[in-house]
Amino acid sequence: MNLDKQTRALVDHLAAASDLDSAASVLHWDQQTYMPPEGVAARAEALATLSRLSHGITASDETARLLDAAGAPEPGSDSEAVVRVARREHERATKLPSRLVSEISRATTLAEPAWRRARADHDFGSLVPHLQKILDLQRETAEHLGYKDHPYDALLDRYEPGATKSRLEPMFEELKRGTTEMVRAVSAAAEDRTAPLRGAFDEARQEAFGKSIASAFGYDWGRGRQDRAPHPFCINFGGPGDVRITTRFDPDRLSPALFATLHEAGHALYEQGVDPAYSRTPLSGGVSLGIHESQSRLWENVVGRSRPFWAHFYPRLQDAFPDAFGGTSAEDFYRAINAASPSEIRVEADELTYNLHVVLRFELEVALIEGSLAVPDLPGAWNAKMQEHLGITPKDDARGVLQDDHWAIGFFGYFPTYTLGNVLSVQLFEAALKEHPGIPSEMERGEFATLLAWLRENVHRHGKKHDPDTLVQNATGRPPDTTPYLRYLREKFGELYGF
Ligand code: ZN
Repeated sequence: MNLDKQTRALVDHLAAASDLDSAASVLHWDQQTYMPPEGVAARAEALATLSRLSHGITASDETARLLDAAGAPEPGSDSEAVVRVARREHERATKLPSRLVSEISRATTLAEPAWRRARADHDFGSLVPHLQKILDLQRETAEHLGYKDHPYDALLDRYEPGATKSRLEPMFEELKRGTTEMVRAVSAAAEDRTAPLRGAFDEARQEAFGKSIASAFGYDWGRGRQDRAPHPFCINFGGPGDVRITTRFDPDRLSPALFATLHEAGHALYEQGVDPAYSRTPLSGGVSLGIHESQSRLWENVVGRSRPFWAHFYPRLQDAFPDAFGGTSAEDFYRAINAASPSEIRVEADELTYNLHVVLRFELEVALIEGSLAVPDLPGAWNAKMQEHLGITPKDDARGVLQDDHWAIGFFGYFPTYTLGNVLSVQLFEAALKEHPGIPSEMERGEFATLLAWLRENVHRHGKKHDPDTLVQNATGRPPDTTPYLRYLREKFGELYGF
């Protein structure tokens, strides 16, 4: 990396914070995979210490002094990007009073188990005081972070730099308008197409099959590994040299482990593809949650639920599970993995209905932040919106407003990044296809090198060098746009459901 002298000094100073964050990531990974349950108290202390030390470096007067000294480097240079990202992190670290930071930490630590209990007992009322407290703290956070138009923007910007409520709204309106008709059409087709995905699936075989696909995608096992965890995730330790994924297995259902592996491998390909020169610098890692999710969704859905992909892998899947798939045609399998219908649970939703779950959450969290919706009224508002967007009412609050932990742990502004990722996954894939029309025929041969090389060149290697908008503009020639995504849904599900 080509850095001027002042920026080099800044990077050297901040490398220690990056090392502390990497160490914390290893502890997080271990906590989710191998740590015995009784380790949690000591682990929480160790993580709190590491995060305090890292925060101390980022927020320090020395960082402020080095940022001043670095000034405004030449536009477009690595130095300019480093200073931009480091300044942003420094400002965020200094804007929140430490009293507020510890109050948030305490409130969310208490709310998380309260959310678990409320969900188990179907008792939203017991969560209300916790949610109220967290909402107040989120509002206060927004005021400290600052915003131009709407307090929600300050919260959103933590996950998706540059995104705003006023820019998301038209995009979400387009998605609502564009998918409502399609959702009606699939709702009318009442038959359950998912039967082929249920059966007995030996865990070792599931694991081997998932790994064979990750390998074919280009996931480098010399710089990664896969372990088991209750909630699948991808994590990296300071750069592209150690990027790990996790999954979980259901002996009766093929889909959870298979598609979680494809999804997390997509995240991991991004992290493994970041320029190694950015390691231990502010430019290390993926640039935003939305761009990250575009990579996981691209490999999981656009590739992993497509006909060309399964033309190659379905015979191999039949070999791995002859009892389950010996009598199932490739076409029935394709229809099973792409079965769509309105459902209660976001994480189990299909490609067609998924974004409506996100739009609903976005509308509710904006209303909560601006005060037009009161916390006790949330379940009623939730059910009304489920009826409006998806035409169903959840059986109970556990399968409704209590299903996600995001709000209880203070993640206001997080949900939209899922949908941004879906939209961008197709926009990026189309751009790759335009340059390399042979990608689908490569996929039919189980080859992904051209697609991966395009993503490496246009997305992965840049790390945090460009902000998300610039990255998308450079890669696809236009800003984020729902048109390719809606066209993709219409073609795919129109063919599957005859509309
Ligand atoms: Zn993801």
